[in-house]
Amino acid sequence: MKVDLHNHSYYSDGILSPAEVVRLADEADCDLFALTDHDTTDGLDEARQTADKLSVDLVSGVEISAFWRNMTIHIIGLDIDVNNDILQAGLVHNQQLRKERAEKIALGLWRAGIKDALEKTQALSKTDMLTRTHFAQMLIQEGQCKDMKSVFRRYLTGKKPGGVRVEWKNIDEVVGWIHAAGGLAVLAHPFRYKMTQTKIKNMLIDFKEVLGDGLEVVTATSTDEEITLSNQWAKEYELLSSCGSDYHGWPNQRIQIGSLRDLPNLDNAIWRYFPCRT
Ligand code: AMP
Ligand code: MN
Ligand code: MN
Ligand code: MN
Repeated sequence: MKVDLHNHSYYSDGILSPAEVVRLADEADCDLFALTDHDTTDGLDEARQTADKLSVDLVSGVEISAFWRNMTIHIIGLDIDVNNDILQAGLVHNQQLRKERAEKIALGLWRAGIKDALEKTQALSKTDMLTRTHFAQMLIQEGQCKDMKSVFRRYLTGKKPGGVRVEWKNIDEVVGWIHAAGGLAVLAHPFRYKMTQTKIKNMLIDFKEVLGDGLEVVTATSTDEEITLSNQWAKEYELLSSCGSDYHGWPNQRIQIGSLRDLPNLDNAIWRYFPCRT
Protein backbone atom coordinates (compact mmCIF):
# COMPACT_ATOMS: atom_id res chain seq x y z
CA MET A 1 0.00 0.00 0.00
CA LYS A 2 1.41 3.35 -1.10
CA VAL A 3 0.56 6.23 1.21
CA ASP A 4 1.57 9.92 1.14
CA LEU A 5 -0.08 12.16 3.73
CA HIS A 6 1.71 15.53 3.47
CA ASN A 7 1.61 17.53 0.22
CA HIS A 8 1.11 21.11 -0.98
CA SER A 9 -0.60 22.86 -3.87
CA TYR A 10 -0.60 26.50 -4.94
CA TYR A 11 -3.34 27.16 -2.37
CA SER A 12 -0.32 27.56 -0.06
CA ASP A 13 3.33 27.39 -1.10
CA GLY A 14 3.23 24.57 -3.65
CA ILE A 15 3.67 25.16 -7.37
CA LEU A 16 0.98 22.93 -8.83
CA SER A 17 -2.81 23.08 -8.70
CA PRO A 18 -4.65 20.61 -6.45
CA ALA A 19 -5.82 18.75 -9.58
CA GLU A 20 -2.25 18.42 -10.85
CA VAL A 21 -0.96 17.22 -7.47
CA VAL A 22 -3.71 14.60 -7.19
CA ARG A 23 -3.03 13.44 -10.75
CA LEU A 24 0.66 13.01 -9.92
CA ALA A 25 -0.26 10.94 -6.87
CA ASP A 26 -2.52 8.76 -8.99
CA GLU A 27 0.15 8.31 -11.67
CA ALA A 28 2.58 7.28 -8.93
CA ASP A 29 0.06 4.59 -7.88
CA CYS A 30 -0.64 6.14 -4.51
CA ASP A 31 -3.48 4.35 -2.76
CA LEU A 32 -3.98 6.99 -0.10
CA PHE A 33 -3.02 10.62 -0.52
CA ALA A 34 -3.56 13.80 1.51
CA LEU A 35 -3.43 17.40 0.37
CA THR A 36 -2.23 19.40 3.38
CA ASP A 37 -1.82 23.06 2.48
CA HIS A 38 -0.57 25.54 5.10
CA ASP A 39 -3.46 26.99 7.12
CA THR A 40 -6.13 26.48 4.44
CA THR A 41 -8.46 23.78 3.15
CA ASP A 42 -9.47 25.79 0.08
CA GLY A 43 -7.71 23.46 -2.38
CA LEU A 44 -9.58 20.38 -1.23
CA ASP A 45 -12.72 20.86 -3.35
CA GLU A 46 -10.71 20.78 -6.56
CA ALA A 47 -8.57 17.92 -5.23
CA ARG A 48 -11.71 15.93 -4.40
CA GLN A 49 -13.27 16.50 -7.83
CA THR A 50 -10.11 15.17 -9.47
CA ALA A 51 -9.65 12.24 -7.09
CA ASP A 52 -13.25 11.13 -7.64
CA LYS A 53 -12.39 10.43 -11.30
CA LEU A 54 -9.22 8.47 -10.46
CA SER A 55 -8.30 5.49 -8.32
CA VAL A 56 -6.34 7.37 -5.66
CA ASP A 57 -8.18 7.79 -2.34
CA LEU A 58 -8.02 11.42 -1.13
CA VAL A 59 -7.72 12.23 2.58
CA SER A 60 -8.76 15.79 3.52
CA GLY A 61 -5.84 17.43 5.26
CA VAL A 62 -4.26 20.69 6.41
CA GLU A 63 -0.89 21.75 7.87
CA ILE A 64 -1.44 24.21 10.71
CA SER A 65 1.21 26.53 12.16
CA ALA A 66 1.29 26.36 15.97
CA PHE A 67 3.38 27.41 18.95
CA TRP A 68 5.19 25.09 21.31
CA ARG A 69 7.19 26.98 23.94
CA ASN A 70 7.10 30.07 21.70
CA MET A 71 8.58 28.16 18.77
CA THR A 72 6.72 27.63 15.49
CA ILE A 73 5.92 24.02 14.74
CA HIS A 74 3.61 22.39 12.20
CA ILE A 75 0.68 20.13 13.03
CA ILE A 76 -1.01 18.15 10.26
CA GLY A 77 -4.73 17.54 10.52
CA LEU A 78 -5.81 14.38 8.67
CA ASP A 79 -9.23 13.12 7.69
CA ILE A 80 -10.86 16.36 8.79
CA ASP A 81 -14.38 17.59 8.13
CA VAL A 82 -13.55 20.77 6.19
CA ASN A 83 -16.98 22.21 6.98
CA ASN A 84 -16.37 22.29 10.71
CA ASP A 85 -16.83 25.83 12.08
CA ILE A 86 -14.25 25.56 14.86
CA LEU A 87 -11.54 24.37 12.47
CA GLN A 88 -12.39 27.04 9.90
CA ALA A 89 -12.43 29.80 12.54
CA GLY A 90 -8.95 28.66 13.57
CA LEU A 91 -7.71 28.68 9.98
CA VAL A 92 -9.18 32.16 9.40
CA HIS A 93 -7.28 33.31 12.49
CA ASN A 94 -4.00 31.96 11.09
CA GLN A 95 -4.74 33.45 7.66
CA GLN A 96 -5.19 36.85 9.34
CA LEU A 97 -1.86 36.45 11.16
CA ARG A 98 -0.26 35.67 7.80
CA LYS A 99 -1.73 38.83 6.22
CA GLU A 100 -0.39 40.97 9.05
CA ARG A 101 2.97 39.23 8.84
CA ALA A 102 3.18 39.77 5.06
CA GLU A 103 2.78 43.52 5.58
CA LYS A 104 5.48 43.54 8.26
CA ILE A 105 7.84 41.50 6.08
CA ALA A 106 7.30 43.95 3.22
CA LEU A 107 8.03 46.87 5.55
CA GLY A 108 11.23 45.24 6.76
CA LEU A 109 12.33 44.58 3.19
CA TRP A 110 11.50 48.18 2.22
CA ARG A 111 13.81 49.36 5.01
CA ALA A 112 16.49 47.13 3.46
CA GLY A 113 15.97 48.88 0.13
CA ILE A 114 13.61 46.42 -1.57
CA LYS A 115 10.65 48.35 -2.97
CA ASP A 116 7.09 47.12 -3.53
CA ALA A 117 7.79 43.76 -1.92
CA LEU A 118 4.13 43.09 -1.08
CA GLU A 119 2.86 43.81 -4.60
CA LYS A 120 5.66 41.85 -6.25
CA THR A 121 5.11 38.90 -3.91
CA GLN A 122 1.34 38.94 -4.33
CA ALA A 123 1.85 38.77 -8.09
CA LEU A 124 3.61 35.42 -7.60
CA SER A 125 0.77 33.86 -5.62
CA LYS A 126 -2.24 32.24 -7.29
CA THR A 127 -4.37 32.93 -4.17
CA ASP A 128 -4.34 35.57 -1.44
CA MET A 129 -2.37 33.24 0.85
CA LEU A 130 1.18 34.57 1.22
CA THR A 131 3.85 32.33 2.71
CA ARG A 132 7.48 33.12 3.31
CA THR A 133 8.17 30.89 0.31
CA HIS A 134 6.45 33.48 -1.91
CA PHE A 135 8.66 36.23 -0.48
CA ALA A 136 11.67 33.98 -1.05
CA GLN A 137 10.69 33.45 -4.70
CA MET A 138 10.26 37.20 -5.13
CA LEU A 139 13.69 37.94 -3.65
CA ILE A 140 15.32 35.36 -5.92
CA GLN A 141 13.50 36.80 -8.92
CA GLU A 142 14.74 40.27 -7.95
CA GLY A 143 18.29 38.92 -7.94
CA GLN A 144 18.82 39.41 -4.19
CA CYS A 145 19.77 35.75 -3.59
CA LYS A 146 20.45 32.71 -5.70
CA ASP A 147 18.53 29.99 -3.86
CA MET A 148 15.87 29.29 -1.23
CA LYS A 149 18.31 28.31 1.47
CA SER A 150 20.30 31.54 1.31
CA VAL A 151 17.23 33.75 0.94
CA PHE A 152 15.65 32.33 4.10
CA ARG A 153 18.91 32.76 5.97
CA ARG A 154 19.64 36.28 4.76
CA TYR A 155 16.16 37.79 4.68
CA LEU A 156 13.35 35.79 6.22
CA THR A 157 14.41 34.54 9.63
CA GLY A 158 15.31 35.89 13.08
CA LYS A 159 16.46 39.49 13.11
CA LYS A 160 16.97 39.69 9.36
CA PRO A 161 15.08 42.41 7.37
CA GLY A 162 12.03 40.21 6.69
CA GLY A 163 12.20 38.17 9.89
CA VAL A 164 8.87 38.63 11.68
CA ARG A 165 7.71 36.82 14.79
CA VAL A 166 4.20 35.42 14.56
CA GLU A 167 2.33 34.41 17.69
CA TRP A 168 0.52 31.31 16.53
CA LYS A 169 -1.91 29.56 18.87
CA ASN A 170 -0.47 26.96 21.21
CA ILE A 171 -0.52 23.27 20.33
CA ASP A 172 -3.42 22.44 22.68
CA GLU A 173 -5.70 24.83 20.82
CA VAL A 174 -4.61 23.70 17.36
CA VAL A 175 -5.06 20.02 18.25
CA GLY A 176 -8.51 21.05 19.53
CA TRP A 177 -9.44 22.57 16.13
CA ILE A 178 -8.44 19.35 14.37
CA HIS A 179 -10.32 17.15 16.84
CA ALA A 180 -13.40 19.38 16.58
CA ALA A 181 -13.33 18.59 12.85
CA GLY A 182 -13.15 14.86 13.60
CA GLY A 183 -9.55 14.56 12.40
CA LEU A 184 -6.29 13.21 13.74
CA ALA A 185 -3.43 15.56 14.69
CA VAL A 186 0.09 14.68 13.56
CA LEU A 187 3.28 16.44 14.56
CA ALA A 188 5.07 17.15 11.25
CA HIS A 189 8.77 16.68 10.40
CA PRO A 190 10.20 16.50 13.97
CA PHE A 191 13.78 16.94 12.78
CA ARG A 192 13.20 20.19 10.93
CA TYR A 193 12.90 22.46 13.97
CA LYS A 194 16.60 22.76 14.79
CA MET A 195 15.92 21.21 18.23
CA THR A 196 18.12 18.84 20.18
CA GLN A 197 16.80 15.31 20.59
CA THR A 198 15.99 16.05 24.24
CA LYS A 199 13.90 19.01 23.18
CA ILE A 200 12.10 17.00 20.48
CA LYS A 201 11.25 14.40 23.10
CA ASN A 202 9.90 17.09 25.45
CA MET A 203 7.80 18.40 22.58
CA LEU A 204 6.42 14.90 21.95
CA ILE A 205 5.56 14.48 25.64
CA ASP A 206 3.65 17.78 25.57
CA PHE A 207 2.02 16.89 22.24
CA LYS A 208 0.74 13.63 23.71
CA GLU A 209 -0.42 15.49 26.82
CA VAL A 210 -2.63 17.77 24.70
CA LEU A 211 -4.03 14.63 23.01
CA GLY A 212 -2.01 14.78 19.79
CA ASP A 213 -2.47 11.56 17.84
CA GLY A 214 0.52 10.95 15.61
CA LEU A 215 4.08 11.66 14.57
CA GLU A 216 5.47 11.96 11.06
CA VAL A 217 7.97 9.11 11.06
CA VAL A 218 8.87 9.10 7.37
CA THR A 219 9.29 12.19 5.18
CA ALA A 220 11.02 12.53 1.81
CA THR A 221 14.19 13.91 3.38
CA SER A 222 14.40 11.61 6.45
CA THR A 223 17.67 9.79 7.04
CA ASP A 224 17.61 6.13 8.14
CA GLU A 225 18.67 7.23 11.60
CA GLU A 226 15.83 9.76 11.82
CA ILE A 227 13.29 7.13 10.78
CA THR A 228 14.59 4.68 13.38
CA LEU A 229 14.53 7.32 16.11
CA SER A 230 11.10 8.74 15.33
CA ASN A 231 9.69 5.23 15.09
CA GLN A 232 11.04 4.54 18.58
CA TRP A 233 9.57 7.77 19.88
CA ALA A 234 6.16 7.02 18.34
CA LYS A 235 6.21 3.78 20.32
CA GLU A 236 7.55 5.34 23.50
CA TYR A 237 5.04 8.21 23.57
CA GLU A 238 2.13 6.19 22.19
CA LEU A 239 1.70 8.17 18.99
CA LEU A 240 0.53 6.73 15.67
CA SER A 241 2.96 6.79 12.73
CA SER A 242 2.42 8.90 9.64
CA CYS A 243 4.35 9.43 6.42
CA GLY A 244 4.33 12.23 3.90
CA SER A 245 6.72 13.65 1.36
CA ASP A 246 6.02 17.38 2.03
CA TYR A 247 5.91 17.76 -1.74
CA HIS A 248 5.80 21.38 -2.97
CA GLY A 249 6.60 20.80 -6.65
CA TRP A 250 9.55 23.17 -6.57
CA PRO A 251 11.85 22.32 -9.50
CA ASN A 252 14.98 21.97 -7.35
CA GLN A 253 13.32 20.09 -4.49
CA ARG A 254 13.90 16.69 -6.16
CA ILE A 255 11.02 15.12 -4.27
CA GLN A 256 8.50 12.88 -5.99
CA ILE A 257 5.04 12.18 -4.69
CA GLY A 258 4.48 8.63 -3.58
CA SER A 259 8.10 7.50 -3.37
CA LEU A 260 8.50 7.30 0.40
CA ARG A 261 10.16 4.52 2.30
CA ASP A 262 7.83 2.20 4.24
CA LEU A 263 6.98 2.88 7.85
CA PRO A 264 9.03 0.56 10.08
CA ASN A 265 5.92 -0.39 12.05
CA LEU A 266 2.84 -0.72 9.85
CA ASP A 267 0.66 -1.94 12.75
CA ASN A 268 0.92 1.56 14.11
CA ALA A 269 0.07 3.32 10.80
CA ILE A 270 -2.25 6.27 11.31
CA TRP A 271 -4.45 5.49 8.33
CA ARG A 272 -5.73 2.42 10.13
CA TYR A 273 -7.39 4.82 12.58
CA PHE A 274 -8.95 7.45 10.31
CA PRO A 275 -12.32 8.13 11.88
CA CYS A 276 -14.30 9.82 9.06
CA ARG A 277 -13.60 7.25 6.39
CA THR A 278 -16.32 4.95 5.27
P1 AMP B 1 5.58 30.08 6.42
O1 AMP B 1 4.64 29.01 6.91
O2 AMP B 1 4.91 31.08 5.54
O3 AMP B 1 6.40 30.69 7.51
O4 AMP B 1 6.59 29.38 5.43
C1 AMP B 1 7.20 28.24 5.86
C2 AMP B 1 7.55 27.42 4.63
O5 AMP B 1 8.73 27.93 4.06
C3 AMP B 1 7.86 25.99 5.00
O6 AMP B 1 6.69 25.21 4.96
C4 AMP B 1 8.80 25.58 3.92
O7 AMP B 1 8.09 25.14 2.80
C5 AMP B 1 9.52 26.87 3.59
N1 AMP B 1 10.83 27.01 4.25
C6 AMP B 1 11.09 27.34 5.52
N2 AMP B 1 12.42 27.43 5.75
C7 AMP B 1 13.02 27.13 4.57
C8 AMP B 1 14.37 27.05 4.12
N3 AMP B 1 15.39 27.29 4.95
N4 AMP B 1 14.58 26.73 2.84
C9 AMP B 1 13.57 26.50 1.99
N5 AMP B 1 12.28 26.56 2.36
C10 AMP B 1 12.01 26.86 3.61
MN1 MN C 1 5.72 24.84 2.84
MN1 MN D 1 5.93 22.07 7.52
MN1 MN E 1 4.49 20.95 4.54
